[in-house]
Amino acid sequence: MAYMRKSDDRLLFLPLGGSGEIGMNLNLYGHKGTWLMVDCGMTFAETHVPGVDLIFPDPTFIESEQEALIGLVLTHGHEDHIGAVPYLWPRLRCPVYATPFTAELVKDKLKEAGLLEQVPLHVVDALTPIKIGPFTVRYVPLAHSIAEGHGLAIETSKGTIFHTGDWKLDDRPLIGPACPSPVLSELGEKGVLALVGDSTNVFNPSESGSEAAVRESLIELVQGLKNRVVITTFASNVARLETIGEVAKASGRHLVLLGRSMERVVRAAKETGYLKDFPTLVPEEDADHLPKDRVLIACTGCQGEPRAAIARIARDDHKHLQLSPDDNVIFSSKIIPGNELVLGQLFNTLASKGINVVTEKDAFIHVSGHPGRAELAKMYGWTRPFSAIPVHGEARHLMRHAKLARELGVEHTTVPKNGDVIEISERGLELVDEAPVGRLALDGTAIIGIDDPAIVDRRRASVNGFVTASLIFDDDGALAAEPILAVMGLPRGDDDSFYDGMVYALEHALERMKPAARDIDAMVEETTRIAIRRYCRSEIGKNPGVATLITRRDEIDFR
Ligand SMILES: [Zn+2]
Ligand SMILES: [Zn+2]
Repeated sequence: MAYMRKSDDRLLFLPLGGSGEIGMNLNLYGHKGTWLMVDCGMTFAETHVPGVDLIFPDPTFIESEQEALIGLVLTHGHEDHIGAVPYLWPRLRCPVYATPFTAELVKDKLKEAGLLEQVPLHVVDALTPIKIGPFTVRYVPLAHSIAEGHGLAIETSKGTIFHTGDWKLDDRPLIGPACPSPVLSELGEKGVLALVGDSTNVFNPSESGSEAAVRESLIELVQGLKNRVVITTFASNVARLETIGEVAKASGRHLVLLGRSMERVVRAAKETGYLKDFPTLVPEEDADHLPKDRVLIACTGCQGEPRAAIARIARDDHKHLQLSPDDNVIFSSKIIPGNELVLGQLFNTLASKGINVVTEKDAFIHVSGHPGRAELAKMYGWTRPFSAIPVHGEARHLMRHAKLARELGVEHTTVPKNGDVIEISERGLELVDEAPVGRLALDGTAIIGIDDPAIVDRRRASVNGFVTASLIFDDDGALAAEPILAVMGLPRGDDDSFYDGMVYALEHALERMKPAARDIDAMVEETTRIAIRRYCRSEIGKNPGVATLITRRDEIDFR
């Protein structure tokens, strides 16, 4: 049964991802029997999900409401907003709306997934409102660390929601319009029922700073450097890429791009009218042949991603480029919390080779794409919403953002969790229901639940090792031969005593079983598991996963 009737004119907000975490944003607005989805992002898997690259919000709720889902509106092209589209769209099958640059990035993904022909992707002009069922959606261009960042003014019969998307204020953003305060004030004048907004940098008291200032600083820095210069940054930051082009020109260096995602963004940017004066690129295979003082290399991997270009270069594992002592690597990026360790290792690998490493801690070479409290205060001043729902943050960010909104005079705030169904009305905000939520993992090419036994087993094996026991039983139910064990990921010592001891312990346990119990596979498996784990715990303090293969001679089919 459908969740809402057509006659239900409540206005509902339901986040399925991004509330209580930074990453995988998926927000729903419900009104008059329909749902409008805003963003459909992914997050990168952490080390406790071994072997898994990407995580998505579980769309089960909206999948069951698929007929009521009238559209997916994408605010901008960051992976935490568009990354799940090719994986989840087959379950959603709704029209998708995006502005040209974002659409170009989405098209690349859909093409790779073989979905380009199927997905109705509407490339919209940011200045023309779109009517989607009972919603009128107006894109509001805002500065961000990617081209075409947008908030959305979503008009309904109940009032207007301002969904900020990811944003910052930048008087000189280099790409896109400068601070759109008149548009925001006009929204405030007409009345904003609720602001649903970015909480990422609420712990920063000041402003995020301008891309133009970064450009000036980077040019000055690189002009003073000798030998090769490598700049790594977030590939999607088109203004920063343009800056790197300007740095190359100003320092008389040829520009080389390394990394697939960087090439993809440059192509999408040129396709949609950006990077018009970007310097002619030198092919990467020629990077090593250029005089050291005449080359600038832009590459991916600023968060230490092991397969990205800068990590490969650091390991001397790059096809075309090898750095030498006194070359320079500039990390024009933020050290994202959680990545400090892996980045620290990368900095050390480079430093131990005599390479000069420059990070945001050494020089002014990065600004954030998210608003600090000073910018949030301005935003609330212009839009003056009746209610505020902080999103795009961990619980502590959302709490702080809600507190700030109250300090700034917003009457109603709430701190949402994924799955909260919140009614937005002229009375304020009310939690009216909870929808099922969860996380999905991309495991190879399969999409499985994050609690799937495959992941649980793998995590156990990665921490505690794994033992497989092969047992052969005679017609009379006794062991026909010594058990054979395959031991993975456990220290075995120099001689066979650990292995032999385990075989002995297992044989002994099986012999002690009652004959009737030994005839039942499940009981043999349980006894095997207990015997092996007990032995491993007492000998080496490990608790491995155990699998048992049982062959019964009287059941062998000699075909
Ligand atoms: Zn973003
Ligand atoms: Zn984001």
